[in-house]
Amino acid sequence: EDVERTEILIIGAGPAGSVAAAMLRQQGRKVLMLERQQFPRFSIGESLLPQSMEYIEAAGLLQDVVEAGFQYKNGAAFVHGKARTAFDFRKKFSPGWGTTYQVQRADFDNVLARGAERMGATLRFGDEVLSVEPGEQPLVSVRRPDGSEYRIEADFILDASGFARLLPRLLDLESPSNFPVRGAIFCHVRDNIPAEAEFDRNKILITTHPEHIDVWYWTIPFSNGCCSLGVVAEPSFFERYEGDDLQKLQAIVGEDPNLTSLLANAEWAVLPVRRITGYSANVSSLWGPGYALLGNAGEFLDPVFSSGVTIAFKSAQLASECLKRRYAGETVDWESEFSIPLRAGVKTFRRFVESWYQGGFQKIIYHPDQQPQVRDMISSILAGYAWDTNNPYVADDSGRRMRVLEELCSA
Ligand code: FAD
Repeated sequence: EDVERTEILIIGAGPAGSVAAAMLRQQGRKVLMLERQQFPRFSIGESLLPQSMEYIEAAGLLQDVVEAGFQYKNGAAFVHGKARTAFDFRKKFSPGWGTTYQVQRADFDNVLARGAERMGATLRFGDEVLSVEPGEQPLVSVRRPDGSEYRIEADFILDASGFARLLPRLLDLESPSNFPVRGAIFCHVRDNIPAEAEFDRNKILITTHPEHIDVWYWTIPFSNGCCSLGVVAEPSFFERYEGDDLQKLQAIVGEDPNLTSLLANAEWAVLPVRRITGYSANVSSLWGPGYALLGNAGEFLDPVFSSGVTIAFKSAQLASECLKRRYAGETVDWESEFSIPLRAGVKTFRRFVESWYQGGFQKIIYHPDQQPQVRDMISSILAGYAWDTNNPYVADDSGRRMRVLEELCSA
């Protein structure tokens, strides 16, 4: 049997895989990316954060993304009953991009994958990685769409298989998330929101359920007159509602007066309604002999602050830096140069997510008098700058600063 050879093998052509592929091609590496599906394909995760633009730019993919014509995004709006607030990400503590896009992932992922291909990565659709033998020269088995199989030997494997979590499952790396199990029901609607409505198409809208502080909706406008609309809750909450998932989604949206009036003329489910449950996940290690885990194949927290794709890009950037040093003949310590730096920002997001579900963060953002400086620091993290240790809310390792602010705003 012929065993194919490559330098870097990437499993999955989602955002993490494609950005890693493009960055490694800039270093002149031989890159093979295997994607089991055919593109374009639907994926969830449609609202980007400005921090992600830095990685798109560094990967040489900025022009591709800009020219795709996605919805411009400059912030996040929050509504809970009569309380409203909005963050403009151009006004923030950390330097860097203040705007980004909201994207149909079928198109966005395709744009990134094709960009990586144009830069010289070999991309095969329909080829599924079945098994991996880690080690000095890891070996991978692959099945083609026609059912035939082949093997590839690589210098290094990047697992960017997303929610499939290929290596964590195969190598028994899964460790439980410390978040309770939550689920989301969502679809795309042709929103027909009138221009005069109090709705900023340049921002994601996060609405808290009028009675349940831990239940929330996203409304993510696209550039084609549609919105992504979803609700997040613990699975038992969805069981209170009759009917199929579309009816459940409509009933829950019907409980919020603001969303009900915004969506009064909406055409529902221009894309089929979907449900995903138990997406929060963690791993005991983000790397091992001959491999590293990128994006959702590693740790996934929660969708509330739209941090998933940004974290996926950050992991791709850190891994490609490590590989650059490896090929320069240096010894790479993946724990201190990949895992620890990646997890530092994830930890910042985790503090914010925990505070969101406990209600503290919601008290902070709706509080009538806020210090502009503190608001800029929060805006920075909402914009994805969770690795900027100059920001006191990033450097807040114990979470003490956050708790003090919560207490001040609860009084
Ligand atoms: P993916 O995008 O999942 O890509 C993985 C790819 O690997 C897939 O194309 C898959 O087909 C392929 N693959 C899997 N197994 C194999 C195999 N064995 N062989 C070959 N190929 C394989 N993030 C945001 O940034 N903004 C948001 O607004 C947001 N909203 C979210 C809402 C919800 C309800 C959830 C659950 C998540 C949300 N996220 C959001 C997170 C976002 O979906 C993910 O973080 C992001 O898609 C991760 O990208 P990835 O490249 O790691 O994986």
